[in-house]
Amino acid sequence: MTDIKDMKVWFVTGSQHLYGPKTLQQVDVDSSKIVDGLNASGKLPVEVVFKPVVKTPDEILNICVEASADKNCIGIITWMHTFSPAKMWIGGLKALSKPYMHLHTQFNRDLPWSEIDMDYMNLHQSAHGGREYGFINARMRKNRKVVVGHWQDENVQTQVGNWVRTAIGWADSQGLKVARFGDNMREVAVTEGDKVEAQIKFGWQINAYGLGDLVKYIDKVTDAEVDELYKEYEQEYAVAENCKPGGEYHENVRVQARYEIALKRFMVDGNFKAFTTNFENLTGLSQLPGLASQRLMAAGYGFGAEGDWKQAALLRIVKTMSEGMKGGSSFMEDYTYHLDPANEAVLGAHMLEICPSIAAKKPRLEVQPLGIGGKDAPARLIFESETGDAMNVTMIDMGNRFRIIVNTLDVIEPLDTMPKLPVASAFWKTHPNLADGAAAWIYAGGTHHSVFTLALTPDFIETFAEYADIEFVIIGKDTKVPEFKKELKWNEVYYMLAKGL
Ligand code: MN
Repeated sequence: MTDIKDMKVWFVTGSQHLYGPKTLQQVDVDSSKIVDGLNASGKLPVEVVFKPVVKTPDEILNICVEASADKNCIGIITWMHTFSPAKMWIGGLKALSKPYMHLHTQFNRDLPWSEIDMDYMNLHQSAHGGREYGFINARMRKNRKVVVGHWQDENVQTQVGNWVRTAIGWADSQGLKVARFGDNMREVAVTEGDKVEAQIKFGWQINAYGLGDLVKYIDKVTDAEVDELYKEYEQEYAVAENCKPGGEYHENVRVQARYEIALKRFMVDGNFKAFTTNFENLTGLSQLPGLASQRLMAAGYGFGAEGDWKQAALLRIVKTMSEGMKGGSSFMEDYTYHLDPANEAVLGAHMLEICPSIAAKKPRLEVQPLGIGGKDAPARLIFESETGDAMNVTMIDMGNRFRIIVNTLDVIEPLDTMPKLPVASAFWKTHPNLADGAAAWIYAGGTHHSVFTLALTPDFIETFAEYADIEFVIIGKDTKVPEFKKELKWNEVYYMLAKGL
């Protein structure tokens, strides 16, 4: 996964010289206490670094230029401790190229009724200072996250922590290398898209490789390495009898182990963080990489089937943002429906490639025929997903912009066993219900592929979309299809005009 140990978030406090040096010294002290409080909260995955209070346009410009140039700084938290006349911020905000948020808090939580005087007021002006700052951000059409509440409140700390995670995801997105083995599945529309635009918007470096490049790596894997990895499989999974040494399909499992080792080396050597495969492009491979793709996803790599590089990169970013959080994330496909009017639900799966990070129980390792592609029967992990709150996230290319669509879900227990279905799966209820949720998704042009996550909530993705300045729509519990259709139409106009704003 991404090495986050050197990443930092800077804490920048806005003020002005109006209040005199004594007050400003106190502002520095109060700010550093907030920084200490945030760091001690355990809610932030990286360290927040206190920066001295800024009081002039030059100081603001300098800190923003420094933050933009600093490799380890992934974003800044801005706080208007006192009134900080916002024309002072124009130069700095124009120069700032890192994500930033506006923490709208004040040092003291409660109004000191019997003590409040003008000295207190000099130190507690966020209520109006934050509004002055908000105006210039709005006037400059700046996308930023606003979090409101007392800095010691756990909910506020969690929101700041979530924002920090989106900044980590954004940092990971810059220069994210995606290896495409082969091209997209032939004639498929939704997995296509503008890779140059994706690099401009998200920083993704998406390049294709011939299968021969991977085959060279596969040929170099030794039997001893395969033996070693196979032992790991026996420890981690319930391996089917016919897949064990001496069994009919043991060799098929060893083939996937070879793929896993080779793929991992290819990714490490090229510093790739996501990859795609395509069952139509497997020259030199005897199986579609199933188990191998599943295991690489579990190790933190993004994956997209049928050449779907958009979901591959998105999955990688979702995994980076959610590292250390409860709940896994996987490549996913709307597989088939359960259309009982009393209990409508979706079975999500893929022909092989679902990440075991979402598994509720120990996965089974089996070899079964694939049915398409004309290759050998591939080894794969079979399991059912953990239940709970989840969402599907997908990205499509609308021609003049990328659109991200989120649909929140309740993942539930399957209604029965599926002994003849040899794939990993998740069973969910779509919000607001299957008919409206699926209709809205289809009106929005959402693909059958998505990134399924039990870890993140829609706000993470919304913030990410804002960093990239692309369209974001959500289908949730309150979605009404006629309103949603209007939103899509309004967005159409907005994205025609947005370049002029
Ligand atoms: Mn597919």
